[in-house]
Amino acid sequence: MRTRITLACTECKQRNYDTTKEKKNHPERMETKKYCPFCKKHTLHRESK
Ligand SMILES: [Zn+2]
Repeated sequence: MRTRITLACTECKQRNYDTTKEKKNHPERMETKKYCPFCKKHTLHRESK
C-alpha cells in the first residue's frame, strides 16, 4: 500500500515534489536531497502533509 506524500524544500519551504512511499518501509518522515528550482541548488527535502 503506497501513500502519497509531498516533499518540501527545508530551506525555502516550497513544495517541489509529489511522490509516493511505502509506509511500512518508511514510517518516519522521509528526507531526500533533491534539486530545488527556487534555491537553484540541491537542498534537503522533507516529507510534508
Ligand atoms: Zn528551496
